[in-house]
Amino acid sequence: MDKGFLISKTEDEIREIFSSLGEKSFRTGQLKKWMYQLQPFSAMSNFSMQLREKLEQRFEMGYPEIMEKFVSKDGTIKYLLKLFDGNIVEAVVMKYSYGNTLCISTQVGCPMACRFCASGLNGLTRQMYPFELITQVLLINRALGSGREITNIVLMGTGEPLLNYDNVVYFLREIHKEEALGISYRNISLSTCGIKDNILRFADEDIPLTLCLSLHSAINSKRSMIMPVEDRIPLQEAVRAMEHYQKKTGRRIVYEYIMIGDLNIGDEDAEALWQLVKGQTAHINLIPLNGKVGNFREPTRHEIHSFLQKLKDRGLSATIRRSLGQDIEGACGQLRARYLENEIR
Ligand code: SAH
Repeated sequence: MDKGFLISKTEDEIREIFSSLGEKSFRTGQLKKWMYQLQPFSAMSNFSMQLREKLEQRFEMGYPEIMEKFVSKDGTIKYLLKLFDGNIVEAVVMKYSYGNTLCISTQVGCPMACRFCASGLNGLTRQMYPFELITQVLLINRALGSGREITNIVLMGTGEPLLNYDNVVYFLREIHKEEALGISYRNISLSTCGIKDNILRFADEDIPLTLCLSLHSAINSKRSMIMPVEDRIPLQEAVRAMEHYQKKTGRRIVYEYIMIGDLNIGDEDAEALWQLVKGQTAHINLIPLNGKVGNFREPTRHEIHSFLQKLKDRGLSATIRRSLGQDIEGACGQLRARYLENEIR
């Protein structure tokens, strides 16, 4: 019989496994503590020898492993992680004066197919499991040092977090707990391309983090050219859902806006953006397109600053996101995509 991997089970499934072994349900909590320390069955000293053996016969833990590590000149570290089934995801650590921000993936691949993004090139392979999401963070935290090295988490790597809803919500609640990393929701950002119904649902979860909408254009026809999701969920509907989340949580809305040469950084684009978000408690994060993807052109320095000025002239709060890890393919999915192309084996 093939062994199963405990990492791919939900908390409820683990509880059922213990019950089928004649064990009480508090074992689940004990196992989770060991998992959050990335320990093997053999180290689980509050389990009887018999129980450890039974678990070992039927399961492997299946923790993610660091396969490769790339360090950029600016200190950014990119990890390629190998999951129990051989799938690869990436995670990036960015060093700021206030601490280390970890950018994680939430799905293996991505179904959204945004035209400028390397993550969706091969579509969605599978969801990441709850304990995979948690242990990828704890694994990298341990790789960085012996304390709480990661101070901020952004769900901005590969995948659409709100299409892995239950697992991501479980992850957020767990990673917030002291026995995991004790990270405050204020130090977590989640970026979505605008899955309206799940933004509305998320507003009721009482998880007040920084919710970011990947907007990239305030003009429907242009957004549709770069983001297929626009044809199902028009940006105005996504923005309304963001406003609802803002009102429920008190957190300001963040809009992400990739600046693409000759596409979305002219006067009409700034005007449309202003019309869309004026009066909101919101901030606009301008991201210069990273890398040459498809036919798109990176904006020049002049274009970047002139678009920022157009927004400021209209009284909008906007900043340009510093581009880190350029020399190690820091943008979403780039490194994984290249790995999948076999180039860096
Ligand atoms: N699916 C979610 C989260 C993943 S993308 C979302 O759409 O928000 C995280 C951010 O990285 C998004 O704002 C995305 O648009 C951006 N991104 C993807 N490819 C990029 C590229 N080539 N250059 C700059 N930013 C990119």
